Amino acid sequence: MKTIKVSVVTPDGPVFDSDVEMVSTKAKSGELGILPGHIPLVAPLEIGAVRLKKAGKTELIALSGGLLEVRPDQVTILAQAAELATDIDVERAQRAKERAEHRLHEQHQEDIDFKRAQLALQRAINRLAVSDRRM
Ligand code: ATP
Repeated sequence: MKTIKVSVVTPDGPVFDSDVEMVSTKAKSGELGILPGHIPLVAPLEIGAVRLKKAGKTELIALSGGLLEVRPDQVTILAQAAELATDIDVERAQRAKERAEHRLHEQHQEDIDFKRAQLALQRAINRLAVSDRRM
């Protein structure tokens, strides 16, 4: 099977660096599946999962949005935050989810706080889903 090198990088450092057979993730324009030899591409990514397939196994990463760049021999994902499914702290994500839900139910909030709370809720739900492999 042909492979392509994939790097997932955050401001805190690299999260994943390996060769895989297929990368799939959610771009703002829709689901993307990238195989070796894909045409060059730059795409903004949503809060969601990155699936990395190799030798019949799928590694899952929770991604808090970012930018995907495809070059002939390399896929790079620059993310605000990214965690391997196995590195996700489920209790922390559960607490973040409850905090965000609480904020969304408060009254008289500013729009900007509402948007922030919605994004925090999405990140937390995404981490819980990736950790449970419900993606
Ligand atoms: P919290 O309120 O728990 O900090 P958050 O969504 O605001 O959640 P981020 O700002 O997205 O957190 O991330 C800050 C850093 O913490 C990043 O390095 C991210 O990878 C890490 N992180 C956040 N939540 C978790 C989690 N549940 N498990 C592991 N790492 C996490």
